[in-house]
Amino acid sequence: MRLDVVTIFPDYLAPLRLSLVGKAVAAGIVDLRVHDLREWTHDKHRTVDDTPAGGGPGMVMRPEPWGEALDTLAPPGGPQPRLVVPTPAGVPFTQALADEYAAEPWLLFACGRYEGIDQRVIDHAGQRMRVDEVSIGDYVLAGGEAAALVIIEAVVRLLPGVLGNPESLTEESHTGGLLEYPVYTKPAHWRGLDVPPVLLSGHHGRIARWRRDQALRRTARRRPDLLARLPAEALDARDREV
Ligand code: SAM
Repeated sequence: MRLDVVTIFPDYLAPLRLSLVGKAVAAGIVDLRVHDLREWTHDKHRTVDDTPAGGGPGMVMRPEPWGEALDTLAPPGGPQPRLVVPTPAGVPFTQALADEYAAEPWLLFACGRYEGIDQRVIDHAGQRMRVDEVSIGDYVLAGGEAAALVIIEAVVRLLPGVLGNPESLTEESHTGGLLEYPVYTKPAHWRGLDVPPVLLSGHHGRIARWRRDQALRRTARRRPDLLARLPAEALDARDREV
């Protein structure tokens, strides 16, 4: 998968060279290219922003550097990426969208700052590539870089060959509709707290049932909205007793 990130703070993306994503880059699974938007400015001050049309506070990112950046990275007439524009005004980023992105050959992230990017950049790009304006949550960050880091990490861990054990992906929160059950490891006793005995019983059926019960309780307590969205057939008779 090819990943381009355009930003005025290329150093902000340095963590993509670490840990799981870093290993995927080193292994050639991900072709990561981080670009400084200011490369596509032409004035002495390398200006990327200006006052908002119509007035109001803050600054808006000018369209020209963005237009040139997109034309250079994805020339019209050639293959096009799916453009991801992080914004708190976007559609929510979910595990389902992460799955969709993981199947794309090429994603390009446009990281906004200030009050965001002139809307014409997004509208113009939409004439030749698929464009998603995506929010990572109902709060406002200072820039799109942290959002791009979040989205990229969620996507890259889904790519074949990235996780040591791909089975890790099957029972996770946000895959089967429930949050994941609590997890434990050794030692069995620690600071007066025990690993739940059923997990040490070796009885696979009982362990699976305990985990399912815990997942149901946790989801009901923390995310009743997820439970309400589960289709009726996703719950068995025993689930309904929990
Ligand atoms: N004026 C914008 C609004 O109210 O919708 C907020 C701009 S915010 C200060 C600056 C940049 O941070 C945005 O252009 C976007 O790239 C990024 N950003 C902020 N919150 C975000 C979120 N929840 N999800 C994704 N990106 C976000």
